[in-house]
Amino acid sequence: MLKHSLIACAIFPALLLLAASGRTATLDDSKLRSTDQDTGNWLMYGRTYEDHRFSPLNQINEQSIGKLGLTWSHEFGTTRGLEATPLVEDGIIYATGNWSVVYAIDAKTGKIRWTYDPKVPRARAYFICCDVVNRGVALYRGKVYVGTLDGRLIALDERTGAPVWDVSTADSSTKPYAITGAPRIAKGMVVIGNAGAEYGVRGYISAFDAQTGKMVWRFYTVPGDPSKGFESKAMEIAAKTWSGEWWKVGGGGTAWEGIVYDPTLDLLYFGTGNPTAWYRSLRGGSGESLYTASILAVRAATGELAWHFQTTPGDNWDFDSTQPLVQADLSIGGRTRKVIMQANKNGFFYVLDRATGEFISGKPFVSGITWATGLDPKTGRPVETPDSAKPAIISPAPDGAHNWNPMAFSPTTGLVYLPAKSGTQSLHVPDTNWKYNPDKNNLGRAPGYEGPLAAKLKSMPHPTGELLAWNPVSQRAAWHAKYPVAVGGGVLATAGNLVFQGRADGVLAAYRATDGKQLWTFDAGTGIMAPPVTYQIDGVQYVSVLAGWGGPDGLGNDPGWGPVKPGFGRMLTFTLGGNAAFKAPAFGHKDPPPMPSITVNTSPQVVHQGELLFDDNCAGCHGAKAVAGPLPDLRYASTQTLEGIQAIVLGGARAARGMPSFQKILTAEQVRAIQAYIVSRAREGAKAAGRRNP
Ligand code: CA
Repeated sequence: MLKHSLIACAIFPALLLLAASGRTATLDDSKLRSTDQDTGNWLMYGRTYEDHRFSPLNQINEQSIGKLGLTWSHEFGTTRGLEATPLVEDGIIYATGNWSVVYAIDAKTGKIRWTYDPKVPRARAYFICCDVVNRGVALYRGKVYVGTLDGRLIALDERTGAPVWDVSTADSSTKPYAITGAPRIAKGMVVIGNAGAEYGVRGYISAFDAQTGKMVWRFYTVPGDPSKGFESKAMEIAAKTWSGEWWKVGGGGTAWEGIVYDPTLDLLYFGTGNPTAWYRSLRGGSGESLYTASILAVRAATGELAWHFQTTPGDNWDFDSTQPLVQADLSIGGRTRKVIMQANKNGFFYVLDRATGEFISGKPFVSGITWATGLDPKTGRPVETPDSAKPAIISPAPDGAHNWNPMAFSPTTGLVYLPAKSGTQSLHVPDTNWKYNPDKNNLGRAPGYEGPLAAKLKSMPHPTGELLAWNPVSQRAAWHAKYPVAVGGGVLATAGNLVFQGRADGVLAAYRATDGKQLWTFDAGTGIMAPPVTYQIDGVQYVSVLAGWGGPDGLGNDPGWGPVKPGFGRMLTFTLGGNAAFKAPAFGHKDPPPMPSITVNTSPQVVHQGELLFDDNCAGCHGAKAVAGPLPDLRYASTQTLEGIQAIVLGGARAARGMPSFQKILTAEQVRAIQAYIVSRAREGAKAAGRRNP
């Protein structure tokens, strides 16, 4: 059949066009299993089911890289984090941006073919821990699948962007579920997880029929109310590892990043997030809280648990185990092992047998880990340092030694390339009065803590970031490429002996894969978090990346993390000889804040109270010490805005723009204190610039 159509196409060019327009519907299971041969496209999250993020394309290589230039860019007009892996099929790029919006873009020219906005209610931003991001779509048989921030899974017609079906994967109207991860196609199903463990939900992944949107199975990651019985033996076993009444809080363990699939073993793999609340002492004080902070394997046919490996038993530090998983067949100790690998938030690099879950090896890939001294060499269970679960400063911080930003594996060099952070520190002081509150986050962190640990934390050195080349067999670093910021983006490796990576200061760089020498850079004008991809059309190799700075690091805007660059979101695409003009539109405030003309009580006591409240409630989006990154810098707020702060913060006057109401969290007096703090910070900025009180 294929032969006949090829002959026909060669004879009748008109038929070639017809074949091309119908070709998208043929991206079936067998094609998904052989994406490694399809070098022109980038058809799934990590390019192949192994998620290597390695391309055999080599037109752009260590010799030709000097000629690499921009061939087109597209401005999205957004200002928040862009984290997606763009997929490429037959000349079209499918990418996602802020608020789960999907874009189909001409891969040669950057022209928009269609846009689909699922119209996520903007006030939901309150229940999304880490910015209004999305990490990408899945493609299958002519449809584009996307998960949304309000917990829906939507199938779109690949040619038009028209919705084919739209299902709720979670009771998001009453519970703070969100989806930021990319769906995974397995055996005619779309598999998707969710986020929300910071707020108190019960984690699970679900499989839906790709054609109809009908749910096939659901696998819960933590047990529910024991009095109602358990869904499976796995849940019954897990319930024995919890104390207290976890089900009233939800339990957590959300699978918020990618799900990977081995079609030969017919197993789906994914990591789970933290338990709710963060702190062991607030969850009854004992137990491993299965299956949180774990790597799990589930049978695709039935949704049953095949094996589990808990990276951080009884997690106390937000060590989600959701970092991207990579499959490989490695020669270890004289035999070929089918492994799955992860550079975990907790600072250890894990190599597991992916058929059985057996621990093969694990070693720290960053320096300065304080919560554990190492892993048991037989079981891989961490050896916790004494008192690490008591109030303490712990490294790595919840952002992790490595987070969601995908790593790459090159079968040519045998190395894994990953963005690693050393020396991130976080203060963990449980709130002994914590009670589950469905209207706010449920980390269980003590609000307004001012004890000696807070002062100590301020005096600690800043974290550092690097692109790390890691040998997963010897569990040692092959090379390090340090950068001037703590945060690096996702990684792409190619047969051109190159590794591409963007970073928080807006630089997209190419390194030699064998030794880490930086060979090429481009200033994208805004911080890069997403991984680049590569594809080929008409014999020309392209490299494409989304640039857009945000996420918890971007919104929190900690000055200790280096010269990060907020800005407008864009897609940048490069070819050899590319010479498109590019000038990033100016973003942010060039001048110091104006002197505020509003009269409020700015007594030291009120301002101090406002500072503590700002830290707990506002800084996560509007920046540490009220110096913002991507979102509005409140020191520059107009008099009208400052005067109307009660209507905005309590009344929800700007809910439609993503600023939710804090009516259930803050009182009018507390908002006045926050107002006083903002005014005082604006005055400090204005005074430093020599401005005078009006
Ligand atoms: Ca978490």
